[in-house]
Amino acid sequence: MEPTILERSEHPVSRKHISENALRVLYRLNERGYKAYLAGGCVRDLLLGREPKDFDVATDATPQQVKRCFRNCRLIGRRFRLAHVIFNDEVIEVATFRAPTPVEEEPDDENERPGDEEMDNHEDVGNETPEDESDETDSVVEELPPEEEEGDEDAPVEIPEEAPKSNTAVKAHPDRVVDESGVVIRDNVFGSPEEDAFRRDFTINALFYNIDDFSIIDYVGGLVDVEKRIVRAIGDPDQRYQEDPVRMIRALRFASTLHLDIEDECYQAILRQREQMTHASHARMFEEILKFFNCGAMCAAFNKWEETGLLDVMFPGLAPWWREKATEDQKHWQYMAFEQMDKWKKLGIKASPELSYSFFLAPFIFGTRDELLDQGQSPHDALVHACQQVQQVLAERILIPKRVLFKIYDILKSQRNFENRRNAKQIQAFVRRHYFRDALVFYKFDLFVKGENRNKLLAAWQRDFELAPEPEPEPRRPRRRPRRRR
Ligand code: ATP
Ligand code: MG
Repeated sequence: MEPTILERSEHPVSRKHISENALRVLYRLNERGYKAYLAGGCVRDLLLGREPKDFDVATDATPQQVKRCFRNCRLIGRRFRLAHVIFNDEVIEVATFRAPTPVEEEPDDENERPGDEEMDNHEDVGNETPEDESDETDSVVEELPPEEEEGDEDAPVEIPEEAPKSNTAVKAHPDRVVDESGVVIRDNVFGSPEEDAFRRDFTINALFYNIDDFSIIDYVGGLVDVEKRIVRAIGDPDQRYQEDPVRMIRALRFASTLHLDIEDECYQAILRQREQMTHASHARMFEEILKFFNCGAMCAAFNKWEETGLLDVMFPGLAPWWREKATEDQKHWQYMAFEQMDKWKKLGIKASPELSYSFFLAPFIFGTRDELLDQGQSPHDALVHACQQVQQVLAERILIPKRVLFKIYDILKSQRNFENRRNAKQIQAFVRRHYFRDALVFYKFDLFVKGENRNKLLAAWQRDFELAPEPEPEPRRPRRRPRRRR
């Protein structure tokens, strides 16, 4: 298929707006005779006159060939090999053009739910003695069992350039080479630029900028959609969402952040396919939702979650609570929190995942806690049990890493510490907590929403924090059992 090509004089994308490191990578690949394109979100953002978050490169060089072009390069990814070219303050991701692959089945442990273990742990916390409870700066983290290490999938791995030629390599799937033991050696199917464009999610995300002649290459009609400001799925939207349900919430995010309309068929398909979200990888859900918190348009995005019914599918316990039980004050707090996230984005401030999730979950957790208080539980027990309950319902859809869950708990639990500055030793210990900074931001925000003025108190905490020695390191828990290898 012949692509539409816009010459340099026909489009506004200038090298002035492309990071120098990305240009270096593109030029080097091009000099070595490879195709070198900017691809995906950065081309879209440049065309829309926005500053791209990062610059991704697509090429016909294999990852090993890319590696040979750069000394500062490492290969990552076990299933899909990518090259990262590493500069001081930037990493440029270089991917070989890929052909469409059927969506991967999730590995068993990717959707593993932390719920049951957490319940046990929180039970321990709930059973603390009153003395434990009075130690207000104490953290539960140390008492919790080891966290499973994450990120193994992306650990750098040396992989042979070609699939092994020995008899041990077995083609278990047309796209996948496995060895005798069933370990996936290679799961890449390299493709043409055209195939690479068609495997992408939305037309606006499938444009290429070619460094060879500074043209824009469009196989999928993305240029027209950028012009019309439309999010349109590539191919049949129902099928594309079935293949990968996360695309539905990506559509909402692009529409909210970039102020675009979702094309009607693409939107109707979300309403038809929304239940498919239950099949999305829980780990990816965590990441994609985090992108919402940092997208700069969380208020608009949340409204779209509600409007499409995706809120119910993504957060089964939270959505009915929000509709039926949340008070006007809690709703106000939540919208203010979204506005705060959007303000941070404008200022270029990136909140930690634990603070963002605390902002999102606090009304639900505190609402649940209040119900438990009404049932006669102590304040301490009520908060512990509320965290457990919320964690349990969320675990049905989202895998919040334990590291993050524990910090959310710490941030919320420690709020009451701010009111109490009687004991110097406790103050010193508290300001050194690894979660103190996030807890203080949360506290300040809470005062702001409630219209309470505690400037003196805040200044005192800020001063203690600044004078405090290095914060304590985050607890690092040993691995409990080795990660299963497929
Ligand atoms: P952002 O600016 O938020 O990073 P992005 O478009 O760059 O937006 P990424 O998640 O960084 O989004 O993905 C980079 C590119 O990879 C996308 O532009 C798209 O072309 C492709 N892509 C990402 N996720 C999917 C998916 N689920 N299905 C198909 N293509 C995808
Ligand atoms: Mg991106």
